[in-house]
Amino acid sequence: MLLITCPVTRTDELVADRRIRSVANHPTHIAVAIECPSCGGRHVFRTGRRWEDRRTELAARATTRAAVQATTAAAARAARVRQPA
Ligand SMILES: [Zn+2]
Repeated sequence: MLLITCPVTRTDELVADRRIRSVANHPTHIAVAIECPSCGGRHVFRTGRRWEDRRTELAARATTRAAVQATTAAAARAARVRQPA
């Protein structure tokens, strides 16, 4: 049994092993294709330490980028306010 969240209905579903359509082993993760009991579609779920590490790294980088952009925008606004009319 697997617990998934259907990306279509956003519901959590317990999925029987017989609904697994394929399992692919990749260098960074394992991809499991599942026939969804909720929406009837086929979803691919990826799992694995290196896959999670990469996602965490990308999320941290995006957070840093957003913080830098916010700081830069605030500095630009401050600079504009200081300009003489
Ligand atoms: Zn689904």
